[in-house]
Amino acid sequence: MTDRGLVLVVEDEKPISDLLRLYLTREGFGVHAEFDGVGGLTAARTRHPVAIVLDVGLPGMDGTEVCRQLRAENNWVPVIFCTARDDEVDRVLGLELGADDYVTKPFSPREMVARVKSVVRRSRVSRSSSEPVSVGAVSMDTARRRVWVGDEPVDLTATEFDLLAHLVSEPGRVFSRDQLLAEVWGYASVVGSRTVDVHVAQLRAKLGDNSPIRTVRGVGYSAEVSGDE
Ligand code: CA
Repeated sequence: MTDRGLVLVVEDEKPISDLLRLYLTREGFGVHAEFDGVGGLTAARTRHPVAIVLDVGLPGMDGTEVCRQLRAENNWVPVIFCTARDDEVDRVLGLELGADDYVTKPFSPREMVARVKSVVRRSRVSRSSSEPVSVGAVSMDTARRRVWVGDEPVDLTATEFDLLAHLVSEPGRVFSRDQLLAEVWGYASVVGSRTVDVHVAQLRAKLGDNSPIRTVRGVGYSAEVSGDE
């Protein structure tokens, strides 16, 4: 299971890719690896990674072009570049690609994992604090803590709101009941995971047919974007 979300690793050197997979997995991230730029771009669009580790020198389309295309599509997934030489760092910075961080090879996998954790944490904070979010017919103003289904406002309790906001902060990610308890309620499973089920049921009743919340049998819940795989 991927507790912290999926990291996309786009790196054509298999030993580096394998090492990153090992360390990221150990820290609770899921890992999807691609070995060229076109594959990386496709996976970035379809797999909803929480972060991308993106090598600059890739066969086919290079890493800077992958990042440029994502930003042009208004995709702001955190990107950490791996650069082989200092002049590549200069190039990445000079292109103003909207990268979140960069690490120069050879890097320690530990260091890369620390950077990944950091960008993921920062991206969550900024996403949950400002912009209106919408999933299907449901839209949320997280700053004013208001929710609509279509044009109709829906009244939610603070907990229901936080639960919904947490689920939609990462559409497609599956959260276990224990994760939701820890991350939304802020405590471990002392109160029992039924609490989560009860709140999800209430949320669904309020959101009606437009509820984006999907039950993942035996695992937990996720918020689905329409047309998502
Ligand atoms: Ca390379």
